[in-house]
Amino acid sequence: MASRKTAPTATAPKATRTRKPKAETAPAAVAMSPREKELASRYKHQAIIPGSWAFAGHPDRQGIGSRKATVIVRCKSPDCTHTRIVCTSDLQWQTTAYCVEGGCAKRIHSNHRATKAQKKKLK
Ligand SMILES: [Zn+2]
Repeated sequence: MASRKTAPTATAPKATRTRKPKAETAPAAVAMSPREKELASRYKHQAIIPGSWAFAGHPDRQGIGSRKATVIVRCKSPDCTHTRIVCTSDLQWQTTAYCVEGGCAKRIHSNHRATKAQKKKLK
C-alpha cells in the first residue's frame, strides 16, 4: 500500500531580515586603528580606509582573504571611486593600490610590464 501523504502546506510567515543595508559612503568619523596606522605608515602608496581592517576568516571577507587579515583600500586612480579588498601581506605591491573592477590594476600592470619603447607610446 503506497498511500502518499500530502505534506501540509506550512504557512509560517517568513522572518524578515533586519540586516542593515550596506552604506555606500564610509563614515568619516571612523578613526584608524593602531594596526591600520602602522600599515598606512609602512605602505604609503596605499589609501587604506579607516576601520576596514578585518581578521583572517572574517565572514564578510570570504574567498578573498579567508586565511589572511584584510583591509579595504581606495583606488589610487584620480578619476576612480572603486575600492578593493587586499590582504595585508599584499599591500606591499604597487598594483594592489588600484581596483580590479575599473580595470585600473590591469592597466597599471600592463604599463609596468611594458618595455621602455612601449612606455613612450603609452605616454
Ligand atoms: Zn580604479
